[in-house]
Amino acid sequence: MAQAAGSRCVFLGAPGAGKGTQAKKVAESGEASGAPIAHISTGDMLRAQVSAGTELGQQAKSFMDQGQLVPDEVIIAMVQERIQQPDASSAWILDGFPRTLPQAEALDESLGDSTPLSDVIYFAVPEAELLGRLTGRRTCADCGAIWHVTNKPTKVAGKCDLCGGELTQRSDDREEAIQERLDAYRAQTAPLLDYYRSKDVLREVDANRSPDVVFEELLKLMQ
Ligand code: AMP
Repeated sequence: MAQAAGSRCVFLGAPGAGKGTQAKKVAESGEASGAPIAHISTGDMLRAQVSAGTELGQQAKSFMDQGQLVPDEVIIAMVQERIQQPDASSAWILDGFPRTLPQAEALDESLGDSTPLSDVIYFAVPEAELLGRLTGRRTCADCGAIWHVTNKPTKVAGKCDLCGGELTQRSDDREEAIQERLDAYRAQTAPLLDYYRSKDVLREVDANRSPDVVFEELLKLMQ
């Protein structure tokens, strides 16, 4: 992929819009073409902390299980540290961050005027579609590949096609937690669309199409 060096990109959209799936694909294609781009998912980072039983993980778990956002100060510090890591020095995609106005402002402040965001891409999906995407989502416990019981089923139920690992359902992909997450998105994250629109960095992709079609369009947008 002809990924611009120094690309600093935010993937914005509701839970289930496909940000994680696409960020993974973009990172894999960047790796394959010798233009690495770090995929930074705050949700994945938090889940890793929960699994490792760290203090941060213990703090975050109850918010996550209830579908609520983890407090800004915890997340902001985590992302500021992450984007300083060597693998994020040339280019990165933030998937799931920022999710609130204070997070967006803190990110702008960390980047400064000399290295601002290159793109903010909004993944547009009608709300009615999101619930089915989330309740059917399954993740491989070993390699992290994302599947769907009807939209992207594996050949053998419950087993990852790529590595044979067990498929798991995220604890916050239950219907009650999903409703909370969608409420949090509407109240706290959707206002970021106007924030980035006013800065003239927002681009929109119609993400209510097949992942391959969305991917092609994304690559064009990010070039
Ligand atoms: P995700 O995998 O992006 O859907 O995130 C899963 C959960 O992690 C969210 O429902 C929140 O509880 C928490 N989380 C992830 N990113 C953030 C963020 N930027 N701000 C606050 N909470 C977050």
